[in-house]
Amino acid sequence: MEFQNKEMIQDILNKDELDKQDIVSLLKAADENDLQMIFQKADAVRKEYCGNEVHLRGIIEFSNYCEQDCLYCGLRKSNKTLPRYRMTKEEIIQTAKEISEAGIKTIVLQSGEDFYISGKEIEELIKTIKDRFGSAVTLSLGERGFEEYKTWKEAGADRYLLKHETSNERLYSAYHLGQELKERIEHLEYLKSLGYQTGSGNLIGLPQQSIEDIAGDITLCRKLEADMVSFSPFIPSPDTPYRNHKPAEIDFTLKVMAIARIVLKNVHMPATTALATLDADGWEKGLAAGANVIMPNFTPAGYRNKYLIYPNKKSDGDFLTNLFNLISSSGRFISAGYGNTLKKKIPSY
Ligand code: SF4
Repeated sequence: MEFQNKEMIQDILNKDELDKQDIVSLLKAADENDLQMIFQKADAVRKEYCGNEVHLRGIIEFSNYCEQDCLYCGLRKSNKTLPRYRMTKEEIIQTAKEISEAGIKTIVLQSGEDFYISGKEIEELIKTIKDRFGSAVTLSLGERGFEEYKTWKEAGADRYLLKHETSNERLYSAYHLGQELKERIEHLEYLKSLGYQTGSGNLIGLPQQSIEDIAGDITLCRKLEADMVSFSPFIPSPDTPYRNHKPAEIDFTLKVMAIARIVLKNVHMPATTALATLDADGWEKGLAAGANVIMPNFTPAGYRNKYLIYPNKKSDGDFLTNLFNLISSSGRFISAGYGNTLKKKIPSY
C-alpha cells in the first residue's frame, strides 16, 4: 500500500500540469519519503524558473487605518485597542530612500484600506519614488477604485498585491463580512488588464478551511495568471474574533508553498514575514520550499509595532546583515535586478 502511494506521488510529480485532485493528493501526503520528493521537486522547479537569485522587496507600511473588518486581521476597524498612524509624505519618501540606498530595487507601499489617503496623494508618492529612486513600485492598498488603479498605473506603478485569501466563496463572505469573492477577482482581473504585475494568494490555517479549499487557492492563482503568489500562515491576533483559533502549522505551510511552486512554476513567491514569525528559521525554510523573494520591513521603528495584522511580528534590528548572511549561506544570492514577471508562461487550462 505504501509502495502504491509512493508511486502515485511520483506519478503526480512527473506530470507537467497538475489538476485539482492531484494537488489535493499532494497536500494529503504525509509519508516522509513522499514529503522529501515534494520538497526536492519544488526546489528543482524553483531553480529552473527562478534560478538561485533571491529578490528583496522593501516594505513601507505607511498607514494602519483600515475601513474593512476582516475577522482574522488585527488592523480591522473594530479593533479599538490598536493605536492608529499615518506616515507623512516626507517620512515615506525618506524610508523609500533608505530602501533604495540599501540596494533594494522594489519599494512596496502597503496600508490598510485607508480612503482618507486620496488617490492623488498615492499618485504623487508613486511619481516621486519613480523620479528620485527609479525603483519598481508595488502597491498593496486593498481594494480601491478602478479609476485610481488606472491613474496609479499611468503614474508608473508596476505591481499590485491583492490576495484573494480564500477561493471558497462561502468562507470569503464569512471572513469579510458579506463581501463577495467575485468582486475581489474582478479587481484582480482589472489590475491585470491595466498591465500591472499582480499578486494574489491565501492565508493557511483559517477557521473551517479544508484541503480542497487550499488546492482551490493554488488553482485560482493559476487561473488569474498571478505574477506573484503568497501562501502565508494564519497567526491569531488577540483583538479579533479569531483570537483563540490555533495558528497554522509551519510544516504544513511549507508543504503548501512547495506544492504551489510545483504547480505554478514561473511565479515570484515570498518566504513571508509571517513564516519567520512562526518559526525563527522561517525564511531559510521558505527559501528551501520554493520561495525566491523576501520582503524586509523598513517601516520606521515608531510605527512598525503598530502595524499588527498579527502579534509578535518578526522585527529584527539588524535584519539586513542577517538576511544577507542567511541568503548566502543557503547557496543563493541577492538579485541585482528588479524581479519583474518571470518569462516562461504558466500552462493554461
Ligand atoms: S486584511 Fe487588509 S483589508 Fe482586511 S482588515 Fe486587515 S488591513 Fe484591512
